[in-house]
Amino acid sequence: MRTARATRLRDAVYGQAVGDALGVPYEFLGRGAFEFEGMIGGGSHGCKAGTFSDDTSMTLATCDSLRELGRIDVDDMRERFVRWWRRGDYTPDGVCFDIGNTTSSALRSGHGGEGVRDNGNGSLMRISPLAFVDATDEEIRAVSAITHAHEISCQACVDFVHILREAAGRPETLRASLVERYASTSESDLSTGGYVLGTLEAALWCFARTTSYRDCVVAAVMLGEDTDTTADVAGALAGTYYGIESIPVEWLEILRAKSLIESCLF
Ligand SMILES: [Mg+2]
Repeated sequence: MRTARATRLRDAVYGQAVGDALGVPYEFLGRGAFEFEGMIGGGSHGCKAGTFSDDTSMTLATCDSLRELGRIDVDDMRERFVRWWRRGDYTPDGVCFDIGNTTSSALRSGHGGEGVRDNGNGSLMRISPLAFVDATDEEIRAVSAITHAHEISCQACVDFVHILREAAGRPETLRASLVERYASTSESDLSTGGYVLGTLEAALWCFARTTSYRDCVVAAVMLGEDTDTTADVAGALAGTYYGIESIPVEWLEILRAKSLIESCLF
């Protein structure tokens, strides 16, 4: 039988994998420039429907490291990220079709980007598994810093992990605080171009402004631009909060590489 934390990890990972796959076909399209058509194929990478991207692949690599070692080992995580990038591990088609600039530089050099311009959402999008293990804030920062070592990115990861833990443990307190926090934020205040704080704010806003997993991730996709990552982060939160049973079955059916996902969970 799964422990409560293992169940929540599963909720989060499926929540984000489905969000990621929903967003992939619309990545880079502007807000208001497209209609949401469900879990379809296509997009700038020409993917089959249900294909998740780097966000979920790097999350699975993180899970697999935690599963196999039973502890947080950033060197092992980095090696798995390299195998994803170079060999296509943790992907539906055995190929890495998208990687951010900061991530590729970090994996090439062995050092996470420390510049203020290295604050894309590339560590936020893969940090969720840390919410469901005994990870200190310093350990969360260290896992971010494998690729994104600037304080803004590290702190965003710490904040999001704390939010996921709250979603798992004190869900109504979390919802009330986020609803209040975003009460006067409008869609035009949100930026979804890939900056880590923009992505985090947009994902939290989508969660606060909706009342179901489906509506939350559709709202995230409809914000445009970095659709897969906004929906990945929003999906991790909505998955944790509402549970895997809230994810529309037709989306779970189309989601690819579910046996790979299962093999990485613990
Ligand atoms: Mg992606």
